[in-house]
Amino acid sequence: MAVMDKGADGRDDATNRLAAQWDRLRARLQAELGEAEYRSWIRHAALGGLDGDELAIFLPSHFLRDWVRAQHGPRLTAAWQAENPAIRRVDVRIGGAPATDPPPAPIDIAKPALPATPRTADPAPRTGEIGGLLDPRFTFANFVVGKPNEFAYACARRVAERPASHGFNPLFLYGGVGLGKTHLMHAIAWDLPASVTNGVAPAVAYMSAEQFMHRFIGAIRSQATLEFKDQLRGVDVLMIDDLQFLVGKDGTQEEFFHTFNALVDAGKQIVVSADKSPSDLSIEGRLRTRLGCGMVADLHATTFELRMSILESKAALSQAKVPAKVLEFLAHKITSSVRELEGALNRLIAHANLFDRPITLEGALDVLADLLRAHDRRVTIDEIQRKVAEHYNMRLSDMASPRRARSVARPRQIAMYLAKHLTNRSLPEIGRKFGNRDHTTVLHAVGRVGELMSRDVGFAEDIALLRRTLEG
Ligand code: ADP
Ligand code: MG
Repeated sequence: MAVMDKGADGRDDATNRLAAQWDRLRARLQAELGEAEYRSWIRHAALGGLDGDELAIFLPSHFLRDWVRAQHGPRLTAAWQAENPAIRRVDVRIGGAPATDPPPAPIDIAKPALPATPRTADPAPRTGEIGGLLDPRFTFANFVVGKPNEFAYACARRVAERPASHGFNPLFLYGGVGLGKTHLMHAIAWDLPASVTNGVAPAVAYMSAEQFMHRFIGAIRSQATLEFKDQLRGVDVLMIDDLQFLVGKDGTQEEFFHTFNALVDAGKQIVVSADKSPSDLSIEGRLRTRLGCGMVADLHATTFELRMSILESKAALSQAKVPAKVLEFLAHKITSSVRELEGALNRLIAHANLFDRPITLEGALDVLADLLRAHDRRVTIDEIQRKVAEHYNMRLSDMASPRRARSVARPRQIAMYLAKHLTNRSLPEIGRKFGNRDHTTVLHAVGRVGELMSRDVGFAEDIALLRRTLEG
């Protein structure tokens, strides 16, 4: 730790103390969060000044700022409060350090040996003003390749290496929930800095179709559509995740179509993901044609072999000892999505750490009982509608009818809520089963029922009862 004399560098004691605290805090964060997090943001963070009880921390880009705020805001504040009780708030901002800031002290602590250091932003992708958040774990290095996803993986690698090359633009990735679409898109973004042309890495904007719509609508409201279009057209790589949610929004589809054409014509790369192929998406015809004319790659349902490799890789990364028998059991039982598979493994590891007990097959059965039961018996939306209609004494056909009377609307919302929690269906799929309702209607219903449950014990018990009968 550098100890500085007062006056030697023209700074006062308070500033020196703050700098020393910052050095300690960064070393602690590095030790706690690991090398990957250190490389992706901690080392880019710079100390700002203390203004009253609020401390400023600077990060060099929009997306890093958002990322740190969202993922580490509370942790940063708590860590600072522990170092310096005078600090009550930490404000994470965009910008460099003020001129008076000392050069970041070299942090020289033992580096934890990570089995596979993810290839994180080094340098970080240029996401400009419109990029969304990128998950630092979603890298090519962390993606396990097997038969079901090798083609999509190869396409993604190719696009990251040489964006906008002929035949790969647009790249359309599709497949079921939790099979790695988002992971591959982020991996492309993290890898782009390596594909430098003329000394400049390509700029990337990643966002979900919902964010795209949201921004577009916001731009219309504030009469800033031109600015929005300019921003979009200023990127080299545009990624839109979960395009199925753009469905039915005519204005935004139209806008996306034009932006899309302008970008492709200007030699920019587009990457799009969806839960179905372009021809199965219910989108405007011209857009569908254009989406399908580049490279279309689907991620197939996982095989047992792939699930085993993924589990082995995740177990190794976490440095937890998980017996092969337990991994095999999980790979057999949890077949729907990698996300659920990962969730189950994480739960076992967290449990083992918490109680300081080794992971065993018997323990796993116990810890994952609820999850496994749900997998043993998959409930269908039809069953849910029938059961709920019966329970509330309404006609089954009203589940899909446009009637909005409370006596049918509330049970319908409950059925949507149960469909969301007991099946693997996506919001648009659920919406379709309820008389072609929009996915936002389903989302609203899920939120509303959750809210009612937290406020009304009787209501919550009713739902729990329905749930138990459905799960058998
Ligand atoms: P999707 O976008 O297709 O719904 P995600 O990309 O969000 O799915 O993947 C869900 C989770 O599963 C993520 O945590 C991701 O890292 C993990 N995952 C999916 N496929 C793989 C894979 N082949 N190797 C490693 N992790 C994977
Ligand atoms: Mg996704």
